[in-house]
Amino acid sequence: MVTENLKSVEERIQAACDRAGRDRRDVKLVCVTKTKPLPLLQEAYADGQRDFGENKVQEILAKKPQLPPDIRWHMIGHLQTNKVRQIIGQTVMIHSVDSMHLAKEISRRAAAAGIVMPVLIEVNAAKEPTKFGVMPEDCLSFVREAAALPAINIRGLMTSAPLTDNPETNRIYFSKLRQLSIDIISENIDNVNMCELSMGMSGDFEVAIEEGATIVRVGSAIFGERHYA
Ligand SMILES: *Cc1c(COP(=O)(O)O)cnc(C)c1O
Repeated sequence: MVTENLKSVEERIQAACDRAGRDRRDVKLVCVTKTKPLPLLQEAYADGQRDFGENKVQEILAKKPQLPPDIRWHMIGHLQTNKVRQIIGQTVMIHSVDSMHLAKEISRRAAAAGIVMPVLIEVNAAKEPTKFGVMPEDCLSFVREAAALPAINIRGLMTSAPLTDNPETNRIYFSKLRQLSIDIISENIDNVNMCELSMGMSGDFEVAIEEGATIVRVGSAIFGERHYA
């Protein structure tokens, strides 16, 4: 099932790139594996996938030792500051920096480990009250302040658009994120490389690619619906 689903997702990514006149190599697929058992991850790995996304620290720490070491793990979910110490060194990128408190803790723990942690700033593009993320109007000042921290490197922005049956309704949020990143680039802030836009999930990744996504995070379209205990 995973192999067929990946093939279809890949075709849809390619088609969206073609529509937007973009190079397929400029869009990274992160396979979102949360709640899914190891055999499904192994199937995706056998199909050539190397970027896996999880939203819980415990789940990354449990799965990682049981899978090949060349998998790049992405932390995509809300991260509590008391879990930061455990995740440093286990993940190639933290997509979900949503508070200055968290940014400071990541920098502090990364410095202690002797590394610089690549991060994305999560933006609540649709201003949903139930969601984490920096408000769009606060994003520039947030990036300025976080950029001064010594052991994080800000690589771009991330958003999760509202759940919807019609992906077109999320286009404005993706284009808003892209515009925000352009505005930030024009400020030339030290230690900020706004090269990544992590946006688009199973329901809306094609629209996100058309609006400039460089990373799409796709779970259920590859691994099937999630069933929470
Ligand atoms: C679960 C999750 C995804 C993937 O969602 P699907 O709709 O299953 O593709 C993407 N991003 C984040 C932050 C998630 O938590």
